[in-house]
Amino acid sequence: MSRLPDYHMHTARCKHARGSLAEYVQTAAELGIYEIAFTDHGPLPDGYDLAHRMGPDETEAYVQEVIDLRRQFPEMKILLGIEADYLPEYTRFLDDFLKSYPFDLVLMSVHFIEGWSAGNWVFEYHFDSRTQQDIYREYLSVVRQGIETGLFDVVAHLDLIKRPGTPLLPLVQNELLLIFEALKAQNMALEINTSGTRKAIAEPYPARPLAELAVKNGVALTFGSDAHAPEQVGLFWTETENWFFGLPKPVRAEFNQRRMRVIKEETKHVRLG
Ligand SMILES: [Zn+2]
Ligand SMILES: [Zn+2]
Repeated sequence: MSRLPDYHMHTARCKHARGSLAEYVQTAAELGIYEIAFTDHGPLPDGYDLAHRMGPDETEAYVQEVIDLRRQFPEMKILLGIEADYLPEYTRFLDDFLKSYPFDLVLMSVHFIEGWSAGNWVFEYHFDSRTQQDIYREYLSVVRQGIETGLFDVVAHLDLIKRPGTPLLPLVQNELLLIFEALKAQNMALEINTSGTRKAIAEPYPARPLAELAVKNGVALTFGSDAHAPEQVGLFWTETENWFFGLPKPVRAEFNQRRMRVIKEETKHVRLG
């Protein structure tokens, strides 16, 4: 049995994930994970990026589907979550939207930045004459601004825009330290997102040294596979558990009805092999 809930799972409603919700639950149960959160991509106004998310008129059905699933799987703790995009111009919309449904947790993602290649995911950036440090700085300033709105519970995939061989930590340590302070001030957690292990970058978000610095600075963690298919639930979970429970002060967070509970775990020295 796993003590780490999987707090980041999508559904076919975002149009780039597949499988039924029941299949995601079944994979979790097979892995011994007994707490999960569906956190599908929430809607944005003006049809923004509608190709990769549910529309505003689809949210009601999503919420109902997740709630109904609890009756079907009483042994599984199923949280109703949402992955919300932070875009400064839509803060008002988001505030209203998040109050309209009984969410257990809200992930914050910065997938788009104004002035970057329009309509493209933030990690697809290409600039002819900007340093990597400058790019990371701008991204993190938007992330921090999002945190400071107080609208969210968890920051998802913090170093989503990293490029292979160019980790954020050596270039923008100060900005990251400010983010850790902002997270604590807002009672928010930092996500360890394992989906990077199935992508070209081949490591979780954030990179281990960055995650460890966050923990050292007193930031609580959540864990998410960012599954877009049932077989991706709990991806890289054993490695993640071994790493997390081997930390000097492993602190994680659980959520319920948007309340954070901090859990101080004990360090375990795992025998490998
Ligand atoms: Zn997605
Ligand atoms: Zn996601």
